[in-house]
Amino acid sequence: MSKIIEKLKDVVGAGRIMTGGSIAERPTSFWNHDSTQAKAIVLPISTDEVSALLHCCHDHEQSVVVQGGLTNCVAAAESTPADVVLSLEKMTRIDEIDVIGCTAVVEAGAILQSVQEAVAEQGLYFPLDLGARGSCTIGGNIATNAGGINVLRYGMMRNLVLGLEVVLADGTVISSMNRMLKNNAGYDLKQLFIGTEGTLGVITRAVLRLFPQPASRQNAIVAMRDFDAVSAFLNHVQQQLAGTLSAFEIMWGDYFAAVTGKGGHRAPMSRDHPYYVVLQSEGGDPDAGAERFEAVLASALDDQLIVDAVIPKSTAEARAIWEIRENFEAILEPEPVYLYDVSLPIRDMDDYVADVKSKVSQCWPNGECYTIGHVADGNLHFFVQPNETGDFHDASDECVYAPLTAIGGSVSAEHGIGTEKLNWLSHSRSATEIELMRSLKKNLDPKNLLNPGRVLAR
Ligand SMILES: Cc1cc2nc3c(=O)[nH]c(=O)nc-3n(C[C@H](O)[C@H](O)[C@H](O)COP(=O)(O)OP(=O)(O)OC[C@H]3O[C@@H](n4cnc5c(N)ncnc54)[C@H](O)[C@@H]3O)c2cc1C
Repeated sequence: MSKIIEKLKDVVGAGRIMTGGSIAERPTSFWNHDSTQAKAIVLPISTDEVSALLHCCHDHEQSVVVQGGLTNCVAAAESTPADVVLSLEKMTRIDEIDVIGCTAVVEAGAILQSVQEAVAEQGLYFPLDLGARGSCTIGGNIATNAGGINVLRYGMMRNLVLGLEVVLADGTVISSMNRMLKNNAGYDLKQLFIGTEGTLGVITRAVLRLFPQPASRQNAIVAMRDFDAVSAFLNHVQQQLAGTLSAFEIMWGDYFAAVTGKGGHRAPMSRDHPYYVVLQSEGGDPDAGAERFEAVLASALDDQLIVDAVIPKSTAEARAIWEIRENFEAILEPEPVYLYDVSLPIRDMDDYVADVKSKVSQCWPNGECYTIGHVADGNLHFFVQPNETGDFHDASDECVYAPLTAIGGSVSAEHGIGTEKLNWLSHSRSATEIELMRSLKKNLDPKNLLNPGRVLAR
């Protein structure tokens, strides 16, 4: 047994370190079902243990890969046989919910959905929400600056984090557990760790910002005949719903038809429209909220901004509509399928999507390019499916990313860079920006041991 494994075992005890065959039983990630590869997987239960583990790895020049719920979409938490994996899965405590200050103190391994449910029991609301809510962790959400379906109203994870506790690569603990909305005392150090994909430190605890639980929620799915109508309808509901619009999710018609096909979700309306939007509004008065919501949709129908609308009559019906947008398992076969996450101005979206779809069909005549997105955030996702056997990742990247540069888009709206988009970072960030990133990394992790090769190429 190597010396480093013995040292790590001294920190966590034999029961919370995995080596050999037990590692191979764990899938690499939500997306990649191959066996995990690692020298060892350690499962700390406290910040002190994380600190001791990192201190030890630092002394032995041992690389460390940090893992939360393994749901990220950019191969950011994948390890090699040379790495030690540090998984936060045993640090799931919700230490405190402050109903006056509207804050929660949670450990980084807490599952997003558990946090949402725990604060809801106290009449409060944690608005970060995404399809992976049942598996992803708060630490992973912070490290990726996750977005999801409510960004339009509440912002990304960055806007929902008030304080952080972080362990640096050498084991130093930085406790910055601020609970206030305002604190301009010097640099806001937590920002160094939000969205930096675990390359600058391991997040162990966080203070989250909560909101009052909305008393009412209205949902609908609507259809449009062209993209101009999508933009016009977005303006319409943003103005008419007076700040209560919390989600506005677009699905191109080919995506909707594919996931509602044979054996898929039940289609609540015709499957032939070119565009669909699922929207949600949150408010404080169930009766008035529902009345206003219906009136706003009715006027959109009158003005022909939308051509059909279905308002669910129960929570189960609302969930079924959201499943169409969030559960895309039906299009993950046949492999390979390449998932993308880009951002660009809304006004450029329709032409850009048409351009990408045309490039995909030039490369693969039987290929598909399904498109969905958080349209109000300028964020689109593609699922490129060549429908041919082979590895076409580079060609597929070219179809999606190359046309972005001219319109000033970004190769990553919310998923990050991970290891998958390293070659494309320079399309969205200048040489001087990348140089500053490298100098921050060098300063905080001079030996390049923490999540090496993520965000910045080795
Ligand atoms: C069905 C589905 C839907 C999704 N929808 C969305 C969406 O709408 N919006 C969105 O933004 N993302 C979405 N994602 C992607 C994913 O859920 C998010 O990126 C999520 O924030 C990752 O959290 P995780 O705990 O799974 O992190 P992991 O995948 O385990 O790790 C992600 C990154 O964070 C690092 N990390 C994890 N924990 C820590 C920690 N404690 N300290 C430091 N670094 C850490 C890892 O090293 C890695 O670099 C979706 C994924 C799926 C499967």
